[in-house]
Amino acid sequence: MPKKIVVALGGNALGNTLPEQMAAVKCTAKAIADLIEEGHQVAVCHGNGPQVGMIHLAMSALNQLDPGQHVMAPLSVCVAMSQGYIGYDLQNALREELLDRGIPKPVATLITQVCVDPEDPAFQKPTKPIGRFMTHQEAQALIGKGDSVVEDAGRGYRRVVASPRPVDIVEIETVKALLADGQVVIAAGGGGIPVIRQGNHLKGVGAVIDKDFASALMAQRVDADELILLTAVEKIALNFGKPNQTWLSDITVQQARAYLAEGHFAPGSMAPKVQAALEFAASKENRAALITLLEKAKDGIEGRTGTRIH
Ligand code: ADP
Ligand code: MG
Repeated sequence: MPKKIVVALGGNALGNTLPEQMAAVKCTAKAIADLIEEGHQVAVCHGNGPQVGMIHLAMSALNQLDPGQHVMAPLSVCVAMSQGYIGYDLQNALREELLDRGIPKPVATLITQVCVDPEDPAFQKPTKPIGRFMTHQEAQALIGKGDSVVEDAGRGYRRVVASPRPVDIVEIETVKALLADGQVVIAAGGGGIPVIRQGNHLKGVGAVIDKDFASALMAQRVDADELILLTAVEKIALNFGKPNQTWLSDITVQQARAYLAEGHFAPGSMAPKVQAALEFAASKENRAALITLLEKAKDGIEGRTGTRIH
């Protein structure tokens, strides 16, 4: 039975550098095309950690070279740039893969803004390091401007930003319309451009939204049947990396919650995925989330592998 699926792509789907991304998207396109070929409706979300880091670094290097030009883009603008750059490579790779299979489906990337709550407690304790390492003096200058900075294991100082929860996807009606029309859409890249509503104005904020949470929200809002989080492991495990490691194939929301509370999933990597997956699965009857390896997307959706949370 054809399903409506939101697919979230992890770091391994895009690589770390420009040449890596060019190569990686070909593989990624195959995994997504496998689902589309089966008749599923697909919306794609992706991470952007290395890419937004690179863009931010390039902008600050340019700014240092010529401070008078005011070329330093705020983080929200860097996220927008990363959506454009990743979307460009991904939509073309997917378009080509689909055409090679005789499927002339339009593929488009949507610059997507995601509202966050200015009162989100995450703003009180920023956790995500971004950008280049700085000297003590540069760090003091940033702190003077109100930014948060941390000392990173003797390697220097880095700016840290908050990772608030996504509350709303501004362009969600466009995502729904494209899906309903049978088109493939890439949206909420990098978790979306974080914005705060100020009446009719949307104000970009210096934060990063977790793409696992953003894709789970998108899956809820488009009323998807399934959320697939594609990553670097085929299944999730209890006691990961320990001698008594146990791979999980099929778990309930209640089990996922309990394992999460017992600390089986690493914070910042697997924990947000399991949290996002279980929130989607718990949001309505007959919704399920799947965590599996990028190359196993089709096997996973057909129940042959991966960890299913329902
Ligand atoms: P992505 O870029 O796809 O978001 P992450 O690195 O953030 O990938 O998260 C996936 C990683 O989480 C896996 O590659 C694995 O090393 C790690 N991980 C941590 N805990 C677990 C666990 N309990 N089971 C499986 N993988 C885990
Ligand atoms: Mg991750």
